[in-house]
Amino acid sequence: MPETIRIGVSACLAGEKVRWNGTNDRDPYLAEILAKHVEYVPLCPEIACGLGIPREKIRQVDCGEDIRLIGYESGDDLTEKMTQWTKRILPGLEEEGLCGFILKSRSPSCALLHGKIYSTKGKQPRQSSGFFTRQMMNYYPLLPMEASERLQNPILRENFIRRVFVLKRWRKLIEKDLRIGSLVDFHTRHKMMIRAHDLRGYRELGKLLGESSIFNANEIFDTYATMLFRSLSLKTTPKKNADVLMHAMGFFKKQLDASDKQELLKMINDYKNSKIPLLMPITLLNHYAKKYQKPYLTQQYFLNPHPSELKLLNHV
Ligand code: SF4
Repeated sequence: MPETIRIGVSACLAGEKVRWNGTNDRDPYLAEILAKHVEYVPLCPEIACGLGIPREKIRQVDCGEDIRLIGYESGDDLTEKMTQWTKRILPGLEEEGLCGFILKSRSPSCALLHGKIYSTKGKQPRQSSGFFTRQMMNYYPLLPMEASERLQNPILRENFIRRVFVLKRWRKLIEKDLRIGSLVDFHTRHKMMIRAHDLRGYRELGKLLGESSIFNANEIFDTYATMLFRSLSLKTTPKKNADVLMHAMGFFKKQLDASDKQELLKMINDYKNSKIPLLMPITLLNHYAKKYQKPYLTQQYFLNPHPSELKLLNHV
């Protein structure tokens, strides 16, 4: 599997002039920052399913039994066209090796959360995902997806970037073998990261691995992946990260003197109070982990992310 991280993206965000009126919606963060670390796979569902440029605007309409894609003015029903194309394209996305998807907000096709669904009964439109995105979410429940606008928020961005890199490592693991020992090793290296997202999920994953002998390999890998990505989809907070840093600090009870402990504690508190970035206490903990030879800590992805992951996580 190539080391490159491949991410699907709504083509208009990647700068392609594919919107209904022939314009794009180029996203500066995607173009100037993220593009240095990942390879994009741009996709415009409306063009790919056969609609042209320029084209009539479309909207999602709740027709009772199902949600349909309808031309804004003509009332043309494009549901079958989009559904048939989506069914054809989705299985192929697996071969593209996508580790995430960034979507255009408010689009009737691509929205992640804020697409409008109109009512035929005169009610206010409600918010939901776009037509294509909803089917992609059903087909690839583990695939990290985020709306481009939400990537401006550092917590949401961190959450997305982390999941993308974990999925890349997960794919590498299952491509190699389905041995329980490899899964336990994978889990061990992600323990602190999982704790930072979801303490309860972390405990449940540990319990699952403890009971691994009663499952076959496929069952345990599938269940583990579902639980892992559900846990990682919960947001970290400075408090949750600080709790994990305190846990890591506990590994140096005997080695650090009072002034070193005080310095580290102050750094963790300063991070928790948003005075310094996460990178600072992580760097100091890493230094101690190497100095005092703590292999459990040096192998944690939470403390030692991939270099690209680290750059993206620390981008302000
Ligand atoms: S939002 Fe999606 S469907 Fe609309 S132009 Fe962009 S890529 Fe195409």
